Amino acid sequence: MELTLLGTGCPSVDHKRFGPSNLISTDKAKVLVDCGSGITQRLHKLNISSANIDALLFTHLHSDHAVDFYQLIISSWHSYRIKPWKIYGPRGTKKFVKKIMDAWAEERKLRISYESRASAKAFEIQVTEFKSIGSLKIKDLNIKYFEVDHKPVKYAYGFSFTNKNKKLTISGDTRPCENLMKYAQRSDVLLHEVFIEGEILQINKMRTKKTLHNVQSYHTTSTQVGKVAFIARAKKLVLTHFVPTRFNKNNLKKVIKKDFGKNPVIGEDLMKIKI
Ligand SMILES: [Zn+2]
Ligand SMILES: [Zn+2]
Repeated sequence: MELTLLGTGCPSVDHKRFGPSNLISTDKAKVLVDCGSGITQRLHKLNISSANIDALLFTHLHSDHAVDFYQLIISSWHSYRIKPWKIYGPRGTKKFVKKIMDAWAEERKLRISYESRASAKAFEIQVTEFKSIGSLKIKDLNIKYFEVDHKPVKYAYGFSFTNKNKKLTISGDTRPCENLMKYAQRSDVLLHEVFIEGEILQINKMRTKKTLHNVQSYHTTSTQVGKVAFIARAKKLVLTHFVPTRFNKNNLKKVIKKDFGKNPVIGEDLMKIKI
């Protein structure tokens, strides 16, 4: 199994860290997790056509994780996709997909009839919404999904992927929570989000103490994530979803090593990790 970090950023714009999204590839399957801003450009850089993606999983429906959804769908059609899309996500995903598709319905209709391509299957979208905990299988990839704690977001998920006795867990956006530590147990790789303490400063009236506190409190901080990985007995900790996107890498490694016992990997866009 291979994990490719497509975007390791957050809502803030950074040309070095695109919006959150990841690709999990096996011998047979290609699955995307989230589709943050820039996902199709990152796939293109890797020479992977969105025509060949088997499924898209949403961790949750915060815009930084979902904003390029239509771009992914329409570009797959431009890339001659000839099969429907399989989308999995939290409750609300059906409504979200319908609204986005509706917004572009007229433009799409015109385009389909004018360009007369062989297939419009890319626009057939099959959505499955998650229960609180469950599993699914996409070709040779086994996936477990479980709720994490990103309140006030009601429905947010983490995923565990297994293939050939190897395990990858993706935290999604979450504050430290029991479910994540339970389902991430003994992962070969734990891909975890992080909020880096001390790197974002207050800006008078625009970014207040309360804003900072609230953002920080529904994420996992740099002084928590090493402990989470340690409790989960993860073999390797890879960090992503950096808030903020620019920070002192050595400091972050040092802080986390203290708790985890090993150096974490600071994720970068287009980094590949064999599992
Ligand atoms: Zn996010
Ligand atoms: Zn979020």
